[in-house]
Amino acid sequence: MAKIETIRHSLAHILAYAVQELYPGTKFGIGPAIENGFYYDFDLKRSLAPSDLPKIEEKMRELISQKISFKKGKLSKSDSNKLFKNQPYKLELIKELPEDKITVYESGDFIDLCQGPHVKSTKEINPQAFKLTKIAGAYWRGSEKNPMLTRIYGAAFKTKKELSSFLKIQEEAEKRDHRILGQKLELFMFDEEVGAGLPLWMPKGAILRKIIENYLYEELTKEGYLWVVTPHIGNLNLWKTSGHWELYRENMYSPIKIDEEEYELKPMNCPFHLKIYQSKIRSYKDLTLKYAELGTVYRYERSGVLHGLTRVRGFTQDDAHIWCTPEHLAEELTKLVKHGLKILKTFGFKDYEIYLSTRPEKFAGTEKGWQKATNSLKYVLEKLRLKYQIDPGGGVFYGPKIDIKIKDSLGRPWQCTTIQVDFNLPERFKMSYIDKKGRKRQPIMIHRALLGSLERFIGVLIENYAGALPLWLAPEQIWVIPVGSRHKKYAKEVKKELSSFRVEAKDENETVSKKIREGEIQKIPYLLVVGDKEMKTNSVRVRERGRGDTGITKLTKFLEKIKIETKKKK
Ligand SMILES: [Zn+2]
Ligand SMILES: [Zn+2]
Repeated sequence: MAKIETIRHSLAHILAYAVQELYPGTKFGIGPAIENGFYYDFDLKRSLAPSDLPKIEEKMRELISQKISFKKGKLSKSDSNKLFKNQPYKLELIKELPEDKITVYESGDFIDLCQGPHVKSTKEINPQAFKLTKIAGAYWRGSEKNPMLTRIYGAAFKTKKELSSFLKIQEEAEKRDHRILGQKLELFMFDEEVGAGLPLWMPKGAILRKIIENYLYEELTKEGYLWVVTPHIGNLNLWKTSGHWELYRENMYSPIKIDEEEYELKPMNCPFHLKIYQSKIRSYKDLTLKYAELGTVYRYERSGVLHGLTRVRGFTQDDAHIWCTPEHLAEELTKLVKHGLKILKTFGFKDYEIYLSTRPEKFAGTEKGWQKATNSLKYVLEKLRLKYQIDPGGGVFYGPKIDIKIKDSLGRPWQCTTIQVDFNLPERFKMSYIDKKGRKRQPIMIHRALLGSLERFIGVLIENYAGALPLWLAPEQIWVIPVGSRHKKYAKEVKKELSSFRVEAKDENETVSKKIREGEIQKIPYLLVVGDKEMKTNSVRVRERGRGDTGITKLTKFLEKIKIETKKKK
């Protein structure tokens, strides 16, 4: 049986064939296989709506049932130009192909410029295991200067069962979309006038951020990190010395002119932290030195790829830089990985995918240094008995790295933690420390972010918990709801008793059931209803999120319970 990628790509051709039959005069872009499916880009004479998809799908099934075979052919440039004379996008692609590399695939009445591979016949495609999922606009070759094409996406698998479980997860994922939940729960917003990819944190979202920041502050301080604060811009010369201007410029914004000098919005915090290291002569006794900062950085992202909080143009990294002697590298890396996993676990993430990325073609430092650092990273993962995969050549130019992707409750992986060894910056900035024998040596530098960025991590948290954040993270933990106006005073007393928590007394003149409903929509962990009985006995009626009414309990007892829960970070 054909590989799933081959089936997916063949389905893209069948999709194009169906569109050619249904909408004559269509111009064709490209149609690759992608993760979980395929797409094809079309320049159509009319616009399509999701309601058009079943018809196209039906046509595709009809074509598949005809057992169409895929035939490969080789063409000269002039023949292919003739063949695709009415297809401007194909002609553009042909222009860039070398003379002897032009191949086409013919399936029924549809011919496409394509390298393949493809299935031999549509017999190999399960007509029940694919579905057209959505229509989106996409610029030809991803550039805003080019025409906007219509992209039709499809999901495809080998079996119907795989397809339906994928579609189910998709449906669940849509319900958890942090962009929608974030608005509903009033955590963050975007505003066109402010600019794309620049989130505004609303009061409740800011509380959530602060809780996470405070937790990190405590955790990292215990681990011996020192905190630093650095500016959002820095002189362009700094970024030239660091190599960012040369190697990272496509992610940076245009310089800002101040007086006669040029400045850059920082895409990373590293050079600043490094300058603090260099503020005095360091000895081996000062090492290992760890500087941490919740540093807000700015990186250019194309507007087309911006996505809620998970892809933004300004974000705050939980960043840190560690300098140690080469002898201490393995030990420091071990601590780092262990500590990182502990923190992720506290947030409820227990499943990971771990990648070790090795030397790319273009690299800074020496081959020997790379080998040593890569071995250290490997050693650490093996010592901690962590399963990992090697990403050959996937390291950044300055050093090898470990990436940890967390898996959310739907099993989707999200890139979070990154731990990178760096040979480049210590060299470029001539960093040094004095060793035991009084000799000048170069320290090893490690960059590391555990959560990645607060924005992205909070987006993942929201999707993982479908907005129902654990008690210790919930911006509003408890609502006290008086039954009638004569219970308002008691509700305020309860609020006061619980004042070490984030608690609101809801004394608006609305019915109890309406307030409960509102509390459920806002995903408040505990709703405490208070009426005559509760008032008399110094109690509360507890409605626990996800469990409903759990009965009356003494206020002191409730307080005990939630104290334990928050302490355990549940
Ligand atoms: Zn193809
Ligand atoms: Zn860094």
